[in-house]
Amino acid sequence: MSEKYDKLPIDPLFKTIDELKPQFIERLSKAIAIPSVSSDEQLRPKVVEMSKFLVNELTQLGFQDIQVKELGTQPPPVQDANLQLPPIVLGRFGSDPKKKTVLVYGHYDVQPALKEDGWGTEPFTMHYDKTKEILYGRGSTDDKGPVMGWLNVVEAHNKLGWELPVNLVVCFEGMEESGSLGLDELVAKEAKQYFKNVDQVTISDNYWLGTTKPVLTYGLRGCNYYQIIVKGPGADLHSGIFGGIIAEPMTDLIKVMSTLVDGKGKILIPGVDEMVAPLTEKEDGLYDSIDFSVEELNAAAGSNTALHQNKKDILKHRWRYPSLSLHGIEGAFSGAGAKTVIPSKVVGKFSIRTVPDIESKKLDELVFKHINQELAKLNSPNEFKVELIHDGNYWVSDPFNESFQAAAKATQDVWGIVPDFTREGGSIPITLTFEKELGVDVLLLPMGRGDDGAHSINEKLDVNNYINGCKTLGGYLHYYAKA
Ligand SMILES: [Zn+2]
Repeated sequence: MSEKYDKLPIDPLFKTIDELKPQFIERLSKAIAIPSVSSDEQLRPKVVEMSKFLVNELTQLGFQDIQVKELGTQPPPVQDANLQLPPIVLGRFGSDPKKKTVLVYGHYDVQPALKEDGWGTEPFTMHYDKTKEILYGRGSTDDKGPVMGWLNVVEAHNKLGWELPVNLVVCFEGMEESGSLGLDELVAKEAKQYFKNVDQVTISDNYWLGTTKPVLTYGLRGCNYYQIIVKGPGADLHSGIFGGIIAEPMTDLIKVMSTLVDGKGKILIPGVDEMVAPLTEKEDGLYDSIDFSVEELNAAAGSNTALHQNKKDILKHRWRYPSLSLHGIEGAFSGAGAKTVIPSKVVGKFSIRTVPDIESKKLDELVFKHINQELAKLNSPNEFKVELIHDGNYWVSDPFNESFQAAAKATQDVWGIVPDFTREGGSIPITLTFEKELGVDVLLLPMGRGDDGAHSINEKLDVNNYINGCKTLGGYLHYYAKA
C-alpha cells in the first residue's frame, strides 16, 4: 500500500546510515553502559555522567551553543536534602534564518533494572543478539535509542558532506522517568530565548502500536486522579465486638465507588459523556487501516476479557473515549487470610482518562457533585471528603498537518508502507508543555515496537527499528524542510 507523493533524492543518506550501522550500534552500547537511573539517588552521579556523554557527542558532531542547564536541588521527598537534579542538555546544529527550525526532545535517564528482576542478560551491558538482530539493554528503546538516533542523523549528514535541511535544536532531559522535575520551568523560560524561532517540536519517545507497522502518534489521553476519604471510628476495630453496631467506612466507600462506572466500562457520572467530542467521518476513517486485533489485546492483557469485540471499538475506547478505573483502597485489609478488622479510615482511589473536549475543571465539578449526592443518600454518620490528587490534560494534534505528512512520506520511503495514525491511551505530559509554551505543533514519531518492553525486563530495540528509525528521523527532516 502506498500513497502518491514526490520522492526526495535522499537515498544517499539512507545508504550512509546503513554503512554507519556498526558505529551507531557502538554509540548505543556506550549509552546503555551508563546506568542513568533517575529514581535512584545513589545513581545520580551516573545520570550526570550520561549528560556529559551527550555533551561530548554533541561537541564531536559539531553542535554549537551547547548549554548544560542546571535545575537546582531536587525537592522533597529525598534522602539527601542537597541532591542536585540532573541538567537539561541543549544544543543546536545550524542557525540559518532561511531554514525551518525543528526542536527534538528526548530523555537520557532510564527506569531501574536489576539482573535479578528476571533479565536474560545484564541490563546495563548491551547484548547484541545477532541471530535475532535485536539489541537488549535498559534504555535501548526508552529513550536512548531514539536520542542516539538524532545524533546518528547528524553524523550521517557530516559523513556525506551534506548540510542538514533544517536547523536542529536538541533538548535532552535526565528526569523524565521521575516526573520531569524542572522541565516545565525550563521550557517556559527558554521559549523566547534558546527555543526562539522553533517551528516544530518532534518527540521520539513512544512506540508502534504493534510489532510490524510503523505509526505516527497524534493524540494522548489526559488523566484526572481522585480520592474519596471516609473516616469513622478513632481506630481500627474488631468486628466481633463492633460489627453491626457502628457505621463502617468501608461499606460506605464501596457503595459510592460502585456508582462511578459499570461492568461494561460505561462512566455513570452524569454529564461526562456529553462533553466528549463527536466522532467525525474523517477521524473514523483513520481507524480502518490500523493494524490491530482483538487477539493482540487479549495477548497483551493475558486474558480473554475484552469489553469490545472489534478492532475499531477497542481502539476508539482506548484513545478517543474517556474511561474510569478504580485503582485501590488505602487503609483496607488487603493481606491473605481472614482478619476480622473494621478499618477506621479508608481512601478510595480512582481516575478518569480524559479526551477532547472534556474540560478538566468541569469534570472535577461533575465528579464532586455526583459523589457528594451519593454520599448524602447514605445518611451515614461517617466523615467524607472527595478530592483531586492530580490532573494532566489530553493532547491531540492534526494528523493531516505538514509535519505529520512529512513523517508519513519518510516512513513510506524507508518502510515502503503508509504508517498508521494512532493515539495512545496514556499521557506524555511534556507534549503539552512544548505545545503550550512554544505555540507550535508537536509530532510524536516513534522508533521502537509495541513489544520492546520499555520499563520492563529484557527491554530491547530491534536493529531494524534502530537503523530504519534513524533513516525515518533523517528523511522526516528533509520532507519537513520542503513542506
Ligand atoms: Zn521514555
